[in-house]
Amino acid sequence: MYDVSLLLDLQTLDRSISNLRKDLSDTEASLTDDSAVVKAGSIFQQISTAHQTVNKNQREIEREVQRLTDRKDSIESKIYAGEISNPKELTALQGEAANIGDLIEAKEEVLLTSMEETERYNQGLAKATAQLETAEISHRERVSGLKSKQQQLIDQLHAEEPAQQAARELCSAHLLHIYDRVGKANKGIAIALVESDRCSECRLSIPKKLLEMLKTASEFVYCNSCGRILYRAVYK
Ligand SMILES: [Zn+2]
Repeated sequence: MYDVSLLLDLQTLDRSISNLRKDLSDTEASLTDDSAVVKAGSIFQQISTAHQTVNKNQREIEREVQRLTDRKDSIESKIYAGEISNPKELTALQGEAANIGDLIEAKEEVLLTSMEETERYNQGLAKATAQLETAEISHRERVSGLKSKQQQLIDQLHAEEPAQQAARELCSAHLLHIYDRVGKANKGIAIALVESDRCSECRLSIPKKLLEMLKTASEFVYCNSCGRILYRAVYK
């Protein structure tokens, strides 16, 4: 009778190592994922650009109001200085001063709207800045956690791989050949346990004939459904 328990020990290690490698590869993939920071950065960038635009717009309106105010002041100081002797010219200048006054009023309305817009973007920018900072902090924490998990997995693999090698060395080449072949055909799981007369892997009932063979057979008994090597821990 082949010693299936040796292969079972090997399979336990193989499964553990395979899970560790999968976990390690997932962890390493997660380490490269900075999408949350990229997303927050992109929102920040968009709001920042819009903020600059409304700010620039506001400054332009302010300059325009200032320019009109200066122009009006200059005309008015001419009027009040009594330098104008021609009544027609005086009327024309008064008319222009009034026109400019209307323009200033209209521009100031626009300026008010623009200032409100700037204020909204100030708040938006502050929020986006805070969100970007939060995203960066949690990314750093996440990366640090993942790195320590990565190191733990690597350490565990380094501990289990020599044990796996030792377990293989305990088995004959023939035994390993069968184990590797059956495992390859069955998602890496070559050995199934007999649990309540069922195969632990495919969960189907094992025919009585095979159960009898398990007690006495000197060769491997295979599950008639999934084809794995059957192993009964305690023989009745
Ligand atoms: Zn089976």
